[in-house]
Amino acid sequence: MKKDPAMQIQDYWVFGEYGGVNPSIEDASTFTFLSAEKMQELFQHEVEGCFLYSRHLNPTVHYLAQSLALLEDTESAQITSSGMAAISCAVLQICSAGDEILSSRTIYGGTYALFKNFLPKFNINTTFVNFLDLEEVRNAITPRTKILYTEAISNPLLEVANIPELSKIAKEHNLTLIVDNTFSPMILQPHKLGADIVVHSLTKFINGASDCVGGAICANHDFVVNLKDVHFGAAMLLGPTMDSIRAAGILKNLRTLHIRIKQHSKNAQFIAEKLTEMGFRVFYPGLPNHPQHELMKQMMNLDYGFGGMVTFDCKTPQTANSLMLKMQENKVGYFAVSLGFYKTLFSAPGLSTSSEISPEEQERIGLSPGLVRMSVGLDNHIEETWERILKSIREVCPEKA
Ligand SMILES: *Cc1c(COP(=O)(O)O)cnc(C)c1O
Repeated sequence: MKKDPAMQIQDYWVFGEYGGVNPSIEDASTFTFLSAEKMQELFQHEVEGCFLYSRHLNPTVHYLAQSLALLEDTESAQITSSGMAAISCAVLQICSAGDEILSSRTIYGGTYALFKNFLPKFNINTTFVNFLDLEEVRNAITPRTKILYTEAISNPLLEVANIPELSKIAKEHNLTLIVDNTFSPMILQPHKLGADIVVHSLTKFINGASDCVGGAICANHDFVVNLKDVHFGAAMLLGPTMDSIRAAGILKNLRTLHIRIKQHSKNAQFIAEKLTEMGFRVFYPGLPNHPQHELMKQMMNLDYGFGGMVTFDCKTPQTANSLMLKMQENKVGYFAVSLGFYKTLFSAPGLSTSSEISPEEQERIGLSPGLVRMSVGLDNHIEETWERILKSIREVCPEKA
């Protein structure tokens, strides 16, 4: 087996009087060699401890990769320049023309557009089914299916995937189960639950600062070595590389992820309960009436709560939009897409991040046009934030006053 040098990276971190508490940033695109043979060897296969060129491997970026592998308990990881790059590289490394993906129908809009509109150009086609119905998943597998694709907690309806059962189905049919864990880092560890590959958008909770875009593919050594193969690797050849300076920044933010996730979850649970009391239809896995509440409790690392995302239904897009603008005015947070920021962010998925999904399809999957998706921030006094939300609701929906 070829070794992934990322896993030996700590060997290059200077420790002692010259070593910083954070690894130094390897500010280089290319690396020096002392022998012609060594360079030639590196073009044939990975050589432990050698770096060639930063699109292939950079010590700082691979330090981040190692941390992501530890986070997801996989042997290795590949860092990419965005979450979409992680998803597209993972999928393209596995599928050839003629192959099929079997995907959950409630996924991030960008992933949906990639599968539905872009990959068919290469004769890679996707069937979308309701992944909560395992019979439906089984029945949709064909001899050409290669991948089962789902989000651990789905965007924006916050459905929770039954990863252990999906893993069984994948194993029975020799498929690769890919799980996007962007909404639930630390809370769920899909690989431990049976997923083969875990993908992340580092842009969201993991970096947590809304100042950059990044992604990761957490998988076994062989898959990661294949991804950066000089001749056949999707990450190497499509080239979605992360810069070392950015990787160092994300690595530092990753250090506080456990504390942030607990606070996001605590605040989101509070808001979800308050909105429920007011009679809104609320989607949050931490609510006892959530259809997968018990399943989630069985799968999760209990210390971290049920996550920072809450979705609720304002019935019409007009109400949703007025409420979001009012909440911004009342300093609840920002009317913006994305998630995992220290401030609360809100958007209407039907009109923004899920707009790639047609209105008919949105209706079929239960995506109401009045949904508001909130990424609840790190507020220390969430009761105060709730007062501001309440004020906004009363101003926009007088019937709730
Ligand atoms: C944002 C997001 C992505 C895409 O990540 P980028 O970093 O924006 O490319 C993929 N999946 C989910 C669930 C996301 O929220």
